[in-house]
Amino acid sequence: ATPISIMVATGRAAGLGIVFRQGDALQRLRSARVVAFDKTGTLTQGRPALTDVLPLDGPDSLDRADLLAAVASVQSASEHPIAHALLEAAQAEGLPLMPVEQFAALTGAGVQGRVEAHDWLLGNEALMDEQGVRVDPAVAAQVQTLAAQGKTAFLAARDGRLAGVLAVADTLRPGAREAIARLHALGLKTALITGDHQAAAQAVAGELGIDIVHAQTLPEHKAELLRALQSSVGALAFVGDGINDAPALATADVGIAIGQGTDVAIESADVVLMNEDLNSVARAIALSRLTLRNIG
Ligand code: ADP
Ligand code: MG
Repeated sequence: ATPISIMVATGRAAGLGIVFRQGDALQRLRSARVVAFDKTGTLTQGRPALTDVLPLDGPDSLDRADLLAAVASVQSASEHPIAHALLEAAQAEGLPLMPVEQFAALTGAGVQGRVEAHDWLLGNEALMDEQGVRVDPAVAAQVQTLAAQGKTAFLAARDGRLAGVLAVADTLRPGAREAIARLHALGLKTALITGDHQAAAQAVAGELGIDIVHAQTLPEHKAELLRALQSSVGALAFVGDGINDAPALATADVGIAIGQGTDVAIESADVVLMNEDLNSVARAIALSRLTLRNIG
């Protein structure tokens, strides 16, 4: 292919809302054998709604409204889709948000912050384990049940003790099923790599017909997992929304960011899907094959 035909192809792609940030990404996309996707905000709309608020019994157990108000207050400093669901719910129920201090996002695991002199830790079971918060089997079973319903559950601990289980539910991005089917028709394998629970990941992968599923993956392991996939299956494209997945976007042979994403994501991506249409992944691969069919 000539530089001119590559320019023509990237120009055509741009017209479709597919922006190539790196000139050689078109070439690398042509050799892709597997396309891996992030789940939340990528295969799903990323605008989950709150479904469950379950305070746990105990000596200092909170009522539902207090639990929700405190959790939403901590989440007010987070940009994760889960956080938006909590803020919307608190607003809908007319619950006041309190100031949050010492906020920190624990990428791919949860968040922490101090509200009204209490230290809150919100996130998955792995995070609770790591921070020494005891999760008893009954609570773990509750999380499992919510996940099997396709919901994303998370735990809320106050001052090192579990205070509640909450869950949000997301809907699949329109066209996701078709997008996966198109990739399979092009002879590619598909994979789902998520920090979410195994049961929630299986629910989505099953619905979409995705070949390979890796759940409960910590962000620092996402890149490692991608390298393992690269050596077992071949060149890899990773599609993510950029929240928590900048390292994966950078590790993939071709990093594809969906939507406006975050600034970090755009920086780490080779390709940006401005049209937020997952079918553009297959379109871009087809275009790369067409443009570069004449070379080795
Ligand atoms: P995904 O790979 O599906 O995009 P993330 O890596 O963003 O998921 O998050 C992985 C898990 O970490 C979530 O399923 C959730 O349990 C927990 N988590 C992340 N951010 C938050 C948050 N702001 N509040 C509560 N839990 C969170
Ligand atoms: Mg995500």
